[in-house]
Amino acid sequence: MPRTHATLPRLFVDDPLRAGAELALGHDQVTYLVSVLRRGTGDRVVLFNGRDGAWLCEIVEASRKLVRLAPVACIAAQTSQSDLWYGFAPLKTARLDYVVQKATEMGVGIIQPVITRRTQVSRIKRERMRANALEAAEQCEVLTLPEIRDEIGLDRLIALWAETEGDRVLVVADEAAPSGSPVEALRALADRRVGLLVGPEGGFDDEERALLMRQSFVLPVSLGPRILRADTAAVAALAVMQSIIGDWR
Ligand code: SAH
Repeated sequence: MPRTHATLPRLFVDDPLRAGAELALGHDQVTYLVSVLRRGTGDRVVLFNGRDGAWLCEIVEASRKLVRLAPVACIAAQTSQSDLWYGFAPLKTARLDYVVQKATEMGVGIIQPVITRRTQVSRIKRERMRANALEAAEQCEVLTLPEIRDEIGLDRLIALWAETEGDRVLVVADEAAPSGSPVEALRALADRRVGLLVGPEGGFDDEERALLMRQSFVLPVSLGPRILRADTAAVAALAVMQSIIGDWR
């Protein structure tokens, strides 16, 4: 994304983005653009839809009820969807929002809620998660949205892993692992498809940990000598993974 447009509002739309294809914004976006940002006819906005790249668009009509825009130019080609998989035991609402936003900012392509025995919540609000991913994508100028999957139990995730994830290696942040740096272990995964699993606030229970450690596709890693909160562990682990084997290289 050229920095020249960094100051313009960026909004995600579902409409196709191409020259000549005028489009109208949804109600919330109209309110945001007209009432909050006080934009009007002639002002410019960057739109993206996860398929056609980022487009500089001009407001051709603006009122409190309606904003119509005309695409002017494609200013960033569509990037490919990240294949980085992130599984986590859902946390309470505020922390759930946080973790979905951070995973999106960290370049995760697949967000998989995993229900473990000590998971605090059971019903996942997918629409809320999507809204958080969208907000993070708009803010951090990614052009794709992570895929948010339906929640799955840990046992079922493991049972279906080979079928659904093929040769993906599952890096498990294991607070019971001997304290150390995950760098060497991760370096060995440089050309592999990978995923990260972080446990719930209460941690994995002994049976769950034993089940995970029995899997040939699991690589347990320590994130150092301190017990991190689950959302801290997610960002820390994703940072190490992106810098060693991911798109920060
Ligand atoms: N309540 C547990 C810890 C759970 S922390 C206890 O007090 O022991 C939540 C999750 O963050 C863990 O399941 C693990 O996935 C991750 N995590 C936290 N600290 C970690 C560490 N030092 N190494 C690896 N994973 C860690």
